[in-house]
Amino acid sequence: MKDAPDKPHATWRVLGLEQGVAEPEPRFLERAAREIGAEPAQVLGARIARKALDARRRGGVHRLRFVAHVDVTTPASFRSARLSRGLEARRVQPAPAAATGRASRIDPSVARARVAVVGSGPGGLFAAWILARHGIRVTLVDRGSPIERRGRELVAFHRTRTPNPESNLLFGEGGAGTYSDGKLYTRVDDPLEETLLEELVACGADPSLVYDARAHIGTDRLHRILPRFRARLEAAGVQFVWNARVERLVLASPGRVRALETTVGEIACDAVVFAPGHSARDTWTALHEQGVVFESKPFQVGVRIEHPQELVDRAQHGLGPEATLLGPASYALVARAAEGVVGAHSFCMCPGGRIVASVNEPGFLCTNGMSNSTHSSRWANAAIVATVGTREFGPGPFAGVAFQRGLERRFFEAGGGDYHAPAQRAADFLARRVSGGELRSSYVLGLVPGRVDELLPPILFDAIAAALARFERTIPGFSGPEGLLVGLESRSSGPVRMPRDEVNRRARDFANLFPVGEGAGYAGGIMSAALDGARTALALLENGIG
Ligand SMILES: Cc1cc2nc3c(=O)[nH]c(=O)nc-3n(C[C@H](O)[C@H](O)[C@H](O)COP(=O)(O)OP(=O)(O)OC[C@H]3O[C@@H](n4cnc5c(N)ncnc54)[C@H](O)[C@@H]3O)c2cc1C
Repeated sequence: MKDAPDKPHATWRVLGLEQGVAEPEPRFLERAAREIGAEPAQVLGARIARKALDARRRGGVHRLRFVAHVDVTTPASFRSARLSRGLEARRVQPAPAAATGRASRIDPSVARARVAVVGSGPGGLFAAWILARHGIRVTLVDRGSPIERRGRELVAFHRTRTPNPESNLLFGEGGAGTYSDGKLYTRVDDPLEETLLEELVACGADPSLVYDARAHIGTDRLHRILPRFRARLEAAGVQFVWNARVERLVLASPGRVRALETTVGEIACDAVVFAPGHSARDTWTALHEQGVVFESKPFQVGVRIEHPQELVDRAQHGLGPEATLLGPASYALVARAAEGVVGAHSFCMCPGGRIVASVNEPGFLCTNGMSNSTHSSRWANAAIVATVGTREFGPGPFAGVAFQRGLERRFFEAGGGDYHAPAQRAADFLARRVSGGELRSSYVLGLVPGRVDELLPPILFDAIAAALARFERTIPGFSGPEGLLVGLESRSSGPVRMPRDEVNRRARDFANLFPVGEGAGYAGGIMSAALDGARTALALLENGIG
């Protein structure tokens, strides 16, 4: 692919080009140039802006196609009859300008500020990245360990079955997504997304990450990328403080923070970007006691479901020769609400992955999914979740947290109190009976046959049962004996929100506290948390500290 030039030019986005999955990718670029009538000499640059697999069945047959939007750069003066026709038919449009990630101005109140960022998840890391690029001094504090040590701590948890509450699958460098599928697609349409993805490419991620509609990194690669990202941040002046839990804010006056009180001492700062993730329950409570406002918000609860990957491949890609050119198949399924039953959907599908114990506190069980870059396991897993709100858990800022904890405790105890997870075949869940025989799964800490149908509140049982019936129509076998439900999945999204000013992004009643990411209720996933961190850092730079 050629790069866009410096001389005056125009970039045209050619939409919806299709080709077979066996065709070489560069053919998209040639097609796009032809589509606008540009001769090779008139093409100054071309690149795929978006590429997705279309695996829909037509007439009962899988016709696998890639569909792409392609950007073609030409001299500014370029015009052709084909281009005019394409523009008129809306098959072509001027390519949207890329976001630079640069603040339009720097408010004098932050020019010399020291900003403390709490949390090294995607929200905190990308907030630090934006701030450091503007010359702001940043101290990034995380209660967990850097990735090298964090891996050993996780192995120790699996061996001893005693979680380390400070550094675990959820806490430590990279945050909750460090042991994940590393899916990086979002439903947020933000031009800044590409800029952030390019930074990950600069840290060693595959360049297709920027345009692949199903982009994922995988845990193995993420573990090589994160230390490089850390090194680049350090080179830009970010100081990391690991294994330091923020316990309280030190206030200069009501609503104004002057330092963080941490387990390793006080960290002075002029502003705080607070990105502690969806499981920092102790920290939320501590800040709430100091007058920081929290509200409950609806969140998702359900179970993981696991199948042999080939069952999913067969349904989604078919058995034709082209299917072998594609990796393991994924799915995203929705069951709408109907007749007193709330809707449910699949979430965070991990092809070729495994189920993990997504645990930070002793005595509570929660599952999630991860995979490596090659999606190499023989298992496919995903969450099936429904949304619960105050109707289920009642009033109060932390009522949702109490509801989560109650269910997590119930599943922990039903698993025998050592992180074995209760499991039930989908067919048995629907028939409301315990599963017999060996339950095989990727879940490394082991399963026990359990009445998942009874452990869940009735509203969730009804929603998941209806969803299983619906999903069976798309993926035959989904709800049969080969589908295994493993519980509980309770942290697909955060249960609290910290209200903040929409423009300045300051926490309510605070001049210099900036809530960010999933733990503050503004994100649900790696990229949305990263974007929230970056956008909040830009708001801090442009609008300053109050
Ligand atoms: C197993 C798993 C798989 C996932 N897979 C995907 C996926 O494929 N794609 C996707 O988009 N999303 C995935 N997610 C969700 C995604 O990881 C989160 O949405 C995202 O990480 C949220 O980012 P964040 O920056 O808001 O918080 P987090 O990533 O949770 O980071 C918060 C950080 O704050 C630190 N912290 C907390 N309290 C304190 C304190 N008091 N003092 C100091 N530090 C503190 C924690 O140690 C942690 O490192 C997955 C999550 C899990 C658990």
